[in-house]
Amino acid sequence: MVFAPTGRDTHLLTVTLRERGVHVEPCGSVEQLLQLVGEGASAAIITEEVLSLSGLDQLRNWLEQQPTWSDMPIIVLSTSGYASRATAKRAEELLVLGNITLLERPVRPETIGLAARAAIRARQRQYQMRDRENTLTLMNEDLQQFAFSVSHDLQEPIRNIAVYSELLKRRLASSLNEDNGAFLNFINTGAKRLEVLVRDLLTYTRLINSPEEAITSIEAETALAEAMGGLAEAIRSSNAQITWVPLPKVSVRPFHLQEVFQNLLSNAIKYRSPEPPRIEITVSNRNSFWQFRLKDNGIGIAPAYKDHIFGLFKRLHRNDELSGTGIGLALCKRIVERYGGAIWVESGEAAGSTFCFTLPE
Ligand code: ADP
Repeated sequence: MVFAPTGRDTHLLTVTLRERGVHVEPCGSVEQLLQLVGEGASAAIITEEVLSLSGLDQLRNWLEQQPTWSDMPIIVLSTSGYASRATAKRAEELLVLGNITLLERPVRPETIGLAARAAIRARQRQYQMRDRENTLTLMNEDLQQFAFSVSHDLQEPIRNIAVYSELLKRRLASSLNEDNGAFLNFINTGAKRLEVLVRDLLTYTRLINSPEEAITSIEAETALAEAMGGLAEAIRSSNAQITWVPLPKVSVRPFHLQEVFQNLLSNAIKYRSPEPPRIEITVSNRNSFWQFRLKDNGIGIAPAYKDHIFGLFKRLHRNDELSGTGIGLALCKRIVERYGGAIWVESGEAAGSTFCFTLPE
């Protein structure tokens, strides 16, 4: 516990607290106090006089810059007798920033002892939270690295199974009996499915692992054109009609926006109704974010699954109905959230779906 008093009660309070088993480190200034707090002190006691010197601003700056796990307990000892109006005003100023307890002087030894112990206990909990947060971050990084390595290293063996089972199918076509032909087919289609799954997983883990870089703004229309280029065959064979209003510039990496468009468009084509797909892209501006809307005329999504479909590996169809990996929308969500945006779907069954996402200007 650190203590920044001025004048006469330094000694008295230090003794009082030490007698109650509270380790106290007196400081001559707010700078010194903040330094000790930064080095791991549990809580701070400050007299009001210290705050009336330029201490308040320093303290406020420090409190504003606390990490998310931190809520530093601070006990303020008011000028003697009663909490003056100025004291109340200062306490109010500090209150919005943190964990302030205001005690009037003269403070009874039991009161300050209890307040100090409660503050220390609260701070210990915060340090535990910080340690847990750090451990979780490290574990998460390990897991991401693991997922990346696994999906990367699986690519080649899976590719070999797909290629050589295809080759065997062709070479042995006439000599295989019906059962063996079917077995070989299972191997081949299984390997092809795995190939797609591993490719999507790799894209997903790459995105999670990719470092934060400086972002410049890009033309959304360029990203859309690239995405449509990647889907040229699906667009042609389904007779899909895609229309869009003039699109703005957005502050994202080009391949991220392209990935979002490509996933949403390919879904709108894949999950189509008997009609040829019709997809309309519109955009509007809200609070420094652009909101994109992709409206399709496909099979729609039951309201109960509106959130579920954005989870990793979450699908509403079996692979023998419509194949997929359940990674596309999870990937879109990770991308837009990385830029502070959001993604959601507005849909009623049979009325098509409208996928909306926001990205910064
Ligand atoms: P995948 O398409 O590989 O299954 P996604 O994460 O892209 O994975 O989509 C998750 C699920 O959401 C899909 O399996 C599908 O059931 C549903 N879905 C996505 N887009 C649409 C859409 N435009 N219309 C209807 N259903 C959709």
